[in-house]
Amino acid sequence: MYLCTNFHTMYYISKRLVISASHHLELSYPSKCSQLHGHNWTITVYCKAKELNADGMVVDFKLIKQRIESQLDHANLNEVLPCNPTAENIAKWVCDQLPECYRVDVQESEGNMATYEEE
Ligand SMILES: [Zn+2]
Repeated sequence: MYLCTNFHTMYYISKRLVISASHHLELSYPSKCSQLHGHNWTITVYCKAKELNADGMVVDFKLIKQRIESQLDHANLNEVLPCNPTAENIAKWVCDQLPECYRVDVQESEGNMATYEEE
């Protein structure tokens, strides 16, 4: 008989989103990032669970998309985050939106990536 559950195992999923949003940064040094500007942010949300929910999922991909997009897409991130909206702080903030989330990658632009991971 095949068992769908097992002990000492973990299920992992990831969801990639692209979000258009603006921000400006409060920095201790002169930078053009202090001016309001926008990015197409690529955000990858990683979730895990020891047991699947009643629907057989870690968390529905669509729910991740809705939860994050509804708050960040076409927003001014300075008005959403309670702190300086750097890629690092955005990654932590996104992680805090979903209880199953343990890691978030935020790519601000090609080649520039921040990762937040809970230990
Ligand atoms: Zn920026």
